[in-house]
Amino acid sequence: MKWEYERCHAPRCRGRRNIFGYHVPDEIWKRVVPKKLRGRSVCLTCFDEMAQRKGVKYLRWMRMILLVGHGNQAAIFSRRKSEKGK
Ligand SMILES: [Zn+2]
Repeated sequence: MKWEYERCHAPRCRGRRNIFGYHVPDEIWKRVVPKKLRGRSVCLTCFDEMAQRKGVKYLRWMRMILLVGHGNQAAIFSRRKSEKGK
């Protein structure tokens, strides 16, 4: 079976594969990611750069980071919604 990587759609990556999946609340996603990219995937590196440009400190809202490796994926960070880290 062929493993499909998610690809980053931000211009600087131009379709490079995205090996880190992550999850942030919709509110943060909308504040950080420009409209034209919202329905697509954006890698963590690009997301971080966009957040920096907009001055959004998203890390305390980050709920999950996944390593999406060849043929499998594993959580490397995850916390429940109710926990709000600093
Ligand atoms: Zn990217």
